[in-house]
Amino acid sequence: MQLLLNCKQAHQMLSEGLDRDLNFAERARLKLHLSICDSCTNFSNQMQILRKAMRKLSLDQPGAVEEVKK
Ligand SMILES: [Zn+2]
Repeated sequence: MQLLLNCKQAHQMLSEGLDRDLNFAERARLKLHLSICDSCTNFSNQMQILRKAMRKLSLDQPGAVEEVKK
């Protein structure tokens, strides 16, 4: 397994991170790439904003709100 991701892999991993929790090794490799790559850092920020917006949307649904109240 290569330690350094290229940008394509980093983007793919960031997208996957929206659907599932990345494991420790994946997060570490992603973080390493982000520390040396500005464009992927920007992409990551956008993804996080998107993720928060998506979570808020799901919380706004009546069923999800009932879950939170319990
Ligand atoms: Zn990159």
